Amino acid sequence: MEISLINFEEKSQQKDKPASFLVVDDDIPARQSLVKLLQRQWPDITEASDGDEAISLIKQRQFNLIILDLNMPRKSGDQVLTFIKQKKIETTVIVISGETSINKVTEAVRLGAYDIFRKPYSFDELEHSIHNALHKLRIEEEKAHIQKRLEHSEQLHRYMVNNSPDLIYILNLEGEFTFVNNSVKKLLGYERADLIGRHYSEFIADEDKLKAEYLFNERRRESRTKRTIELGLKCNTANSSKPFQNSTCPIELNSMGIYTVDSKDPKKLSSYQGTYGVARDISMRKQAEKLITYQAYHDLLTKLPNRAMLLDRLELAINQATRTGQTLIVMFLDLDRFKLINDSFGHVVGDQLLVEVADRLKNEIRTGDTLARLGGDEFMLLLPQPTTRGQAESVAQKLIASLQQPFFLRGKEVYLNVSIGISVYPDDSQDINTLIKNADMAMYEVKATGKNGYIFYNDKLEHAAAEKISIESGLRKALKNDELEIFYQPQLDVKTRRIVGVEALLRWNHPQFGLVEPSYFIEHAEESAIIEQLSEWVLHRVATDLFGDQDFIDSGIKVSINLSASDIRHKEFPESLVALTREHGIQPDRLEIEITENMFMSDIEASTHKLQVLSNKGISIAIDDFGTGYSSLSYLRELPVHTVKIDYSFISEIEHSKKGAALVAAIVGMAQGLGIDIIAEGVESERQSEYLEELGCNVMQGYLFCRPVAVGDFLNTVAQQSTGASSLTGG
Ligand code: C2E
Ligand code: CA
Ligand code: CA
Repeated sequence: MEISLINFEEKSQQKDKPASFLVVDDDIPARQSLVKLLQRQWPDITEASDGDEAISLIKQRQFNLIILDLNMPRKSGDQVLTFIKQKKIETTVIVISGETSINKVTEAVRLGAYDIFRKPYSFDELEHSIHNALHKLRIEEEKAHIQKRLEHSEQLHRYMVNNSPDLIYILNLEGEFTFVNNSVKKLLGYERADLIGRHYSEFIADEDKLKAEYLFNERRRESRTKRTIELGLKCNTANSSKPFQNSTCPIELNSMGIYTVDSKDPKKLSSYQGTYGVARDISMRKQAEKLITYQAYHDLLTKLPNRAMLLDRLELAINQATRTGQTLIVMFLDLDRFKLINDSFGHVVGDQLLVEVADRLKNEIRTGDTLARLGGDEFMLLLPQPTTRGQAESVAQKLIASLQQPFFLRGKEVYLNVSIGISVYPDDSQDINTLIKNADMAMYEVKATGKNGYIFYNDKLEHAAAEKISIESGLRKALKNDELEIFYQPQLDVKTRRIVGVEALLRWNHPQFGLVEPSYFIEHAEESAIIEQLSEWVLHRVATDLFGDQDFIDSGIKVSINLSASDIRHKEFPESLVALTREHGIQPDRLEIEITENMFMSDIEASTHKLQVLSNKGISIAIDDFGTGYSSLSYLRELPVHTVKIDYSFISEIEHSKKGAALVAAIVGMAQGLGIDIIAEGVESERQSEYLEELGCNVMQGYLFCRPVAVGDFLNTVAQQSTGASSLTGG
């Protein structure tokens, strides 16, 4: 339905127009003198000298008032009156006549004359009558106008009510619907007629019936309508394509009593007639609320519960276990080498892997157990049902086994390990946070001692954990207090029995623990930014250790240093390295940097460029731990790589499996094909050495020849070599 407000406004302007008159009389002098008198007040006057002329004028335009003579040639006044009546012309007729027979008068009145004057008449009286007629006319016009307005306003309200997105209704005293608007169809799936005459309670969701009853019985008055209430309304699912889906609709209801108003005394208390109300669909809002609650309690990536939910459940479980005297188990899970995967494959793939890990773990637990993702590659599992240590152990084993099947990332097989720390309530602690902290600590112990396994918390761990926390601050102190040192491990060409290279390996002379190996602290250093300071320190120390020694300078031995991913990613790399080399007086062609494949896989293009800059300056690049990453040999073709270091794990396989030996042969063959130097690292036995030599891989590093040694020992060996007395025979 359309409502035109403009039309209405136009019509309301009509009432201010001056009144229009038609004076009809065949007696010309009488007519003219009348017109002259009338014109003093009403300028719009038209004249007609007989009935015919009058009718044709009336057809053409509208007159507010007609002063009509009865006796005229060519159609009398009667006939004009009849015409006006038949055609339902809106006008007021005052008759002036010589005839005053009662018949004539009554006939004229019957035909609709407003007033009748007998000739001769007093103009004052006529004028008075005209005023009255016009007054009446105006009142009628106003009435019509008001009527129009009312109709219009009624239309408008009906329109607004029916097209409101809210459900608007009226209930009678019995609580039955007497009116509902169109929204009922969209909101609840009912036709309006379905509700009329039915009791409201039929449409209230069962669980809300009581609430509704209270509301409807409360005959609230105007001043108390502010309060709203939330309810579920039953939907019509009979004709729906998805029956029983969303069979209730959440609404927000605002209702009030309807009272008759006493027109004489509006303040007087009047009688209750029923209830009027507006129900608003709040399903969208409810959905949003649900989503927000979901987000607050779930990890959006894996859809697992998050830390907040786990803490809630743990608290609940602890309360219950306290009452029943039972035990409960908390496990802390952390994926090993996940950072490596993120670095090599990028975050998108890393995220996919996490989702798959979550799915596999979820399959291994019972309903009632809570598996949560705490963030990154950390998960936590709560077994709230009474569980023995033995049972917990078998759960841990199942979880580990579930992740041991390979994952496929971008067509590559990837193996994942997980470290699990377990703590038991109430043995290990009765406090939520301590329980979690203990499981976390146990997990770290697994990582430190070998990875891929599980350990129960015990109080010996406490000490070890305290140590770890102090690593970062410890390293800062170590830099300041000169607790760091470099050990040197020679790389030997077995054909000539001469040292051709040396790897600089960091050691920490810890004030309490003595000489500490890098496996203990490098990972921590990489997680904090301190690694970059360490790298710089190493370069500086290598320069002072070796490049001040004449035998070493003369030997032509290359020194290799290990860099970490954050060194390479640094925005000033490689220029900073080149500058440092120059500053410390290290000749670029005597320096090699060792990096692992994964360090540059995430952004090959940028890395290639950086390595090219180094290479152009004469610095060599070695790929460390080759074969353990997720990349292939093929990229070596593109990169300015000089050396490949075959990882220790492959070398140790030479004696143990045919496959291992074949793999080493393949790596060596490929590198030779690409014209890249090869170093075998971690060579521990004669058999390994012989096999490698047969393959043509002559440069080796390992305990078989020499362990990493302090700078003094290393320089002694170099001095002996320069006099021709080589002494590298065993570690
Ligand atoms: P890497 O670069 O693979 O270094 C070789 C490691 O293998 C050294 O351990 C070395 O002592 C050990 N090794 C050498 N020959 C043998 C052998 O025959 N058998 C066995 N079982 N091991 C052998 P280290 O010195 O403990 O270093 C461990 C790792 O720490 C290094 O692995 C390297 O990744 C890192 N690292 C060491 N120094 C630095 C450094 O200055 N900066 C950075 N970023 N990382 C360093
Ligand atoms: Ca290395
Ligand atoms: Ca290595």
